[in-house]
Amino acid sequence: MNELETAARKFALQNALEYNGKASPGPVIGRIMNEMPEFKAKAREVSEVARSAIAEVNAMDTAVQKAELEKLAPEMLVKKKKEEVVRELPPLENAENGVVMRLAPNPSGPLHIGHTRMAILNDEYVKRYGGKLIVRMEDTNPPTVYPDGYRMICEDLDYLEVKYHEVVNQSSRFEIYYEYAEKLLAAGHAYMCSCESEGWRKAKDENRVCPHRDTEPGVNVDLWKRMLAGEFQAHEISMVVKTDINHPNPAVRDFVAMRMVDEPHPLTGTKYKVYPLYNFSVAIDDHLMGMTHVLRGKDHLNNTLRQIYVYEHMGWKKPVFLHYGWVSIEDTVLSTRQIKAAIVKGEYTGWDDCRLGTVAALAKRGIAPGAIRQYWKDVGTKAVDIRFSWENLYAMNRDIIDKDAARLFFVSNPVEKQITGVATLHSKAPLHPQRPELGMREVKLEGDMRVFLTSEDAKDLKPGAVVRLKDLGNMEVAKGNELKYIGNDLSVLKQGAKIVHWVGPNSVDTAVHMPDGTAITGLAEKEALKYLGKVVQFERFGFARLESHNEKGITAFFTNK
Ligand code: GLU
Repeated sequence: MNELETAARKFALQNALEYNGKASPGPVIGRIMNEMPEFKAKAREVSEVARSAIAEVNAMDTAVQKAELEKLAPEMLVKKKKEEVVRELPPLENAENGVVMRLAPNPSGPLHIGHTRMAILNDEYVKRYGGKLIVRMEDTNPPTVYPDGYRMICEDLDYLEVKYHEVVNQSSRFEIYYEYAEKLLAAGHAYMCSCESEGWRKAKDENRVCPHRDTEPGVNVDLWKRMLAGEFQAHEISMVVKTDINHPNPAVRDFVAMRMVDEPHPLTGTKYKVYPLYNFSVAIDDHLMGMTHVLRGKDHLNNTLRQIYVYEHMGWKKPVFLHYGWVSIEDTVLSTRQIKAAIVKGEYTGWDDCRLGTVAALAKRGIAPGAIRQYWKDVGTKAVDIRFSWENLYAMNRDIIDKDAARLFFVSNPVEKQITGVATLHSKAPLHPQRPELGMREVKLEGDMRVFLTSEDAKDLKPGAVVRLKDLGNMEVAKGNELKYIGNDLSVLKQGAKIVHWVGPNSVDTAVHMPDGTAITGLAEKEALKYLGKVVQFERFGFARLESHNEKGITAFFTNK
């Protein structure tokens, strides 16, 4: 390489490494002109040399580009990006002797990406400090309980590599809630209320006390027992915990703790009619289960304030309460209710439909649990509200899956071409450019010399032009659908030959289902069959998880670019 070629090579490598492996002529030529003014008068030569360097560099895998630049000009290697610095979660106070924490999902469906934050953060802290992580299914509202939800949530947590030590259903703890309801009533910290709910709420908003608030504890306990005995109808009576009727936030003033529910529960049927409401059962459970730290979203701030009244009435020590900010997740359907309805109507294939943001869908697509974990660790526990970025999650995922994903060719919307001028061709390429130990993939064309190109590549082929079928050979575009073999010398790249991906006649029909609901169909090289259940990189296309194979071909799900 002469001086100009070396410079072009270095700048192209550096530019490519900055921009996802693809250098562009503008900046590379600009750098040469700037740093080597003696070439200013030779614009044409510079442009030619630069373009040929770029063509070669862009055909290389980024790791190969990096290795070459490291050899050629290590000082030009881009510094480690800020995001690559591993960020740790802030320490927890009073955690030195271990912690007891919980995940308290509502089993109304499986977990989605939004829920994974509470799962990961709590898990991280229990792993850091030692102790116990309890999964508590908050299933005290029968109409929202989805029977498969219990199992699916545990499967999702297993996928996320969350280590939980116990699973408890609130629906199995009603006697406990009853016992504490009676204690609060007997101590005058709660009352039985038969106000109509709208009027009761309105009175609270106006700092007015409901007439039942002053009922004698003995009368309240009696009414409570009658409620348990089934003497009242739903909505006729409820049990209310007293807070502060003058609390500046009306939402915190007195809250309903127990109510009547007619609807049967998927697990307990009609055994119980008196049901706890969220703030009550949570406060009782968090205390009895020995929670040291309650880490949850800021949307629960008012609930924390309400729950603290139960601790105070009972004289219990409060756990450390921590609230992280709100995350908005755009362009993703997350509502369990909506998803459930759409599954019933057949609009989604199931909870793991690849358009959804459920953990099951992400798993099916090959989003690694480590990427989800890293994402939430990076976001941390701050109270500021943030917008979720799929792009950032994908970037973290790429870092994880890239080192194991086999490189394969996939040709979308294939167009058939016939190679002429040679009887057999043998292509041999590494399954992973940085990991020779993973071996090679080989394709032999013999007798049947057909190859398939993507329709996009095919339509760009001008008669007479030279293209390089990657890892196979150089072809001159001939008439009709013919490609004439003209050797295997890489120097054609310098003359501007385009690199084109291809598959041979022995390839497998493959449909890659995209997160937008479309499917891209084409042919994958046969080697793909060895990677069912795994994530591969379809070169120039992106990563995909190969789900299954049947007589129609391979079903794959797009992971990310
Ligand atoms: N079941 C509640 C939820 O999913 C739990 C909140 C909490 O107390 O952490 O929002």
